[in-house]
Amino acid sequence: MAEVLAASGVIAHHSKAFWRALFREGDLDLSAGKFLPPLQRWIDQAVGEGKPYFLDAPEVVDEIRSADGRTRKFLLRLRDGQTIETVLMGYDGRHTVCVSTQAGCAMGCVFCATGQMGFVRHLRVGEIVAQVLHARRVLHQTHPTKRLRNLVLMGMGEPLHNIDAVLHALDIISDVRGIGIGPSKISISTVGVVPGILRLAEEQQPYRLAVSLHGSTEEERAALVPVSQRWPLAMLIDACRQYGALTGKRILFEWTLIAGKNDSPETAARLARLLAGIDAHINLIPLNPTGGFAGTASHAGHAFQRILLAAGFPCTFRQRRGIDVAAGCGMLKADKRPRAAG
Ligand code: SAH
Ligand code: SF4
Repeated sequence: MAEVLAASGVIAHHSKAFWRALFREGDLDLSAGKFLPPLQRWIDQAVGEGKPYFLDAPEVVDEIRSADGRTRKFLLRLRDGQTIETVLMGYDGRHTVCVSTQAGCAMGCVFCATGQMGFVRHLRVGEIVAQVLHARRVLHQTHPTKRLRNLVLMGMGEPLHNIDAVLHALDIISDVRGIGIGPSKISISTVGVVPGILRLAEEQQPYRLAVSLHGSTEEERAALVPVSQRWPLAMLIDACRQYGALTGKRILFEWTLIAGKNDSPETAARLARLLAGIDAHINLIPLNPTGGFAGTASHAGHAFQRILLAAGFPCTFRQRRGIDVAAGCGMLKADKRPRAAG
């Protein structure tokens, strides 16, 4: 963004003021004429042209809190009327924001409310950043001394299907002169978009990678994640090995446990063999009910976990948040009537 400003003839002093107002103070009201005239002229022009990095203050359409008050889920309306979800979670004093990267999703995972809605559009850089600013503002209202330190790209959409905007937004979000969330506290979760994973590795992007696996054979996975026909499991695992070799980083593998589909002891043993040699942490996710699928019973989930632990993998359960208010991933929006793209 600093380069964009410089290329437009905005002098460094003014661009610093702009950056500070936007990202340190989170002031999204750019039309108020509070900047010096050369900067204000540039802002007015860029806003008028709808530049993709522009921040719109999203309108909060709905907000749900979990019973324990530690999860807050926002349904935000964008300028063109599309709605997306952002979640603020507080675990043991650590605050994490979960943002959306697309309106809808093209990947069609059968158990995912967002996937079942289909793809509407990519979010712009400014729309991704604005979600973090909104969560930070809410956090400061309730906990004035707390910092927002963690970010996960696990909301609506597939981040690596919108990779250019995502990387640009993360550049802004991790910049220490502004929001300043450390790159090692930012996780990109992908359903397995192989070219995107390889790009992250080749560019040595400093963020953490999470891969949603859900299946230990081509058939098991394809039944849940249709896009694995395009990037088969074997190709995905190969890309993960390359990622590990090039970056030296651990990969988090996400596994949503679905009764009768991917939760047998045989599947757990096969998963351990599939990931052999990869520096992997496996995160088991209890299913949020979204349709014709049932979650794995607790004892079966723990048996699954024990097999992976015995094989030497760190393996944890994702804490279940927001489910008491029917606000798991994609579920808040699914309650509202989708709007047409505008
Ligand atoms: N598109 C990316 C990131 C968003 S989805 C991805 O798929 O990784 C974030 C996580 O939520 C994924 O691991 C996904 O498998 C999981 N998820 C989706 N629907 C779910 C549901 N109904 N219950 C539990 N987890 C779900
Ligand atoms: Fe898209 Fe992720 Fe949902 Fe699959 S799980 S449909 S990739 S948002």
